[in-house]
Amino acid sequence: MFHTAIAGSLPKPAWLAETGKLWPKWQAEGDALARAKADATLLWIKLQEDAGLDVIGDGEQSRQHFVHGFLEQVEGIDFANKVEIGIRNDRYKALVPQVVAPLRLKGRVHATEARLLRAHTSRQIKFTLPGPMTIVDTVANSHYADRVAMAFAFAELLNQEALALQADGVDIIQFDEPAFNVYLDEAATWGVAALERAAQGLTCKTAVHICYGYGIEANIAWKKTLGDQWRQYETVFPALAASRIDQVSLECIHSQVPPELMALLTGKEVMVGVIDVASDVVESPEDVADTIGRALQFVPRHRLIACTNCGLAPMQRGVAEAKLRALAAGAALARQRYV
Ligand code: ZN
Repeated sequence: MFHTAIAGSLPKPAWLAETGKLWPKWQAEGDALARAKADATLLWIKLQEDAGLDVIGDGEQSRQHFVHGFLEQVEGIDFANKVEIGIRNDRYKALVPQVVAPLRLKGRVHATEARLLRAHTSRQIKFTLPGPMTIVDTVANSHYADRVAMAFAFAELLNQEALALQADGVDIIQFDEPAFNVYLDEAATWGVAALERAAQGLTCKTAVHICYGYGIEANIAWKKTLGDQWRQYETVFPALAASRIDQVSLECIHSQVPPELMALLTGKEVMVGVIDVASDVVESPEDVADTIGRALQFVPRHRLIACTNCGLAPMQRGVAEAKLRALAAGAALARQRYV
């Protein structure tokens, strides 16, 4: 009861990459960089185990950004001639690469990290990939008929990598779809369909993470425009409940999401965000257990997983470590409290 997991990313140590940034520069290159990425992954496996988490991830130590880590291995993208587009419905402007030809994978994307993770922990392991809708919202389309066609092309590539990750021994494959909270009607129709295409044929657990973003300035400003009640999940949750995806990761603590929306996820395992990633204040185990208690009004206890609201990448390492310990201690307290 009340297993614990992180959404995905963890801060990179200062010897691996610049700290406190979403697009950090690496501190090494070539073989030295590959070694440093592996070392950082091993470090976080140990720290997650020591904190007491049940599901262990690679902390996304080997990728500079959660979308572009995947795109680097895709053929048909022009990285040299970037164009400026508004992403997440113009919340940010970004210089992004263009899709200019049919998309194909150059080879495996995350084999090294997934096998390293499998070899160094006996606990359940989760691996994260960007979802198709979020990818098409982060690149420019100069080839496909429309965004939907491009999303399904990416979904096929994601599916190839996901099946290979499953063969590497990954227990849970999670697709990150923050775009689902932005393009609500499209998310409920072709967004979920493209996600299911990406997960086609998987027999391991599948998950989707839908959040309101990292605790960065642009997101904090956007959240202020969303009003007292954030009801974005209300449109997409029924479509997810009807899908074959097993787990849904959502924001809860310190968010304006009405907790009753979790009840829309009939039959799903719910990864409830009990750790705030937009604040350096470390939750107490009581805070975590209280949030679990609120969620229990709407989620059956055997389907509740305690998780972070989003990734911890831009945080200070010490704060992130303390939050992992609070997550595990809070879930342990909840197990005693809600028997
Ligand atoms: Zn997130």
